[in-house]
Amino acid sequence: MHRVIVIGRGLIGSAAGRHLTDLTDGVAVLGPDEPADRASHAGVFASHYDEGRMTRIVDPDPVWAVTAKRSIERYADLEAETGIRFFTESGYLAIGGPGADYVARSEATGRALGADITRLDAAGIRGRFAFLAVPDDAEGLHEGARAGHLSPRAMVRAQTEAARQRGATIIADEATAVRAVAGGVEVGTAGGRTLRAERALVAAGAFTDACGLSPVDLQLRIFGRTVLLARIDDDMEGDFAGMTTIGHAETGAYILPPIRYPDGHRYLKIGIGSTDDAPLRSRADLTGWFRSAGSEANRRDFQAFLTALLPALARCRHWHTDSCAVTWTATGLPYIDHALDDRIAVAVGGNGKGAKSADDWGWLAARVVMGADWDHPVERDRLRLPDRLRSGAAG
Ligand SMILES: Cc1cc2nc3c(=O)[nH]c(=O)nc-3n(C[C@H](O)[C@H](O)[C@H](O)COP(=O)(O)OP(=O)(O)OC[C@H]3O[C@@H](n4cnc5c(N)ncnc54)[C@H](O)[C@@H]3O)c2cc1C
Repeated sequence: MHRVIVIGRGLIGSAAGRHLTDLTDGVAVLGPDEPADRASHAGVFASHYDEGRMTRIVDPDPVWAVTAKRSIERYADLEAETGIRFFTESGYLAIGGPGADYVARSEATGRALGADITRLDAAGIRGRFAFLAVPDDAEGLHEGARAGHLSPRAMVRAQTEAARQRGATIIADEATAVRAVAGGVEVGTAGGRTLRAERALVAAGAFTDACGLSPVDLQLRIFGRTVLLARIDDDMEGDFAGMTTIGHAETGAYILPPIRYPDGHRYLKIGIGSTDDAPLRSRADLTGWFRSAGSEANRRDFQAFLTALLPALARCRHWHTDSCAVTWTATGLPYIDHALDDRIAVAVGGNGKGAKSADDWGWLAARVVMGADWDHPVERDRLRLPDRLRSGAAG
């Protein structure tokens, strides 16, 4: 019998597992490893099978900004504790245009939190980042220290390793059912086990509803996302020297500088978020999407957009796409709340930008599960499940 079982070993679940070890013994973290072959994998997938996620304080929404700040402040300790490096301090550049308040709102939250930021006009952007072709009316916000990118794979490894070193049991298996029973919960697994715990935290990302793991139907909206990766060979490396991560306010595009991937090559990556794509509703929809290489239409559009912004990419000889999925809640923030008395809680809903703040979402989830003081600048009510979801709750 475990004290707490965390279901889902992604960015939020693995962080919760680590932080739970500060509050209790008897922690178990249940979740599969990354599949070796995505195309033939029949199990669940995750949104962290990648080497690059942008991380920064500045954000138009103060909740995302403060949780990112608190997370970023803990990166170095986690790296030191585990010896696993996951953060690269490359900086961040937001590019906005006339009539949009993205840059101004991001600047305001950044200033309030003491971020290392500088406002730039179009000439300033071009002067600092010669590889960028921006229009004359572009405006920019640069964040320097403590902004950059993290490897989500390596961060999950680090969180998992820290939790293990602090006594947590790591179980590489999938949950098939979570049942409330007298005195606790039972979790059935695909491997045929029945795990028992006093409490459970469900943090299974995009698969949470599709696997029926929460006693409340969270009505998450899951959207497939395609990313386009441009291979940066040695002869192009100099073209992108000093490149930051980039957020393009007008299109919602996010761009990561050349990062080394497991195949040994360096790739510069772009994704563009939208809620126009068909939502992925069932487990079959989700697995079908994750097994695919993404959308061919996105590939064409992203390549044209990216090459216009970074003209040196016209020389790129190799492009490929990959698929991922984002999990949206009705509130635009993760749900971190009890779903069934004090036995089953959830920590779900990265809303397309959950990586940077994941350590803090996990910190909060650990406190909810254990009934510890909230002690956090974001009001607890902001992260609760909407009442209308609970009216359909079972049990
Ligand atoms: C293309 C793309 C780009 C992104 N870029 C950024 C970015 O630049 N910056 C940023 O901050 N965020 C970004 N995000 C968002 C970020 O990756 C997610 O918000 C984050 O991964 C969410 O964490 P999570 O723990 O909720 O989900 P995940 O990381 O997906 O983890 C969920 C875990 O649950 C496990 N699981 C699922 N089902 C079960 C089951 N039945 N039993 C047990 N375990 C299960 C999975 O194996 C997985 O490990 C991006 C997302 C995508 C798709």
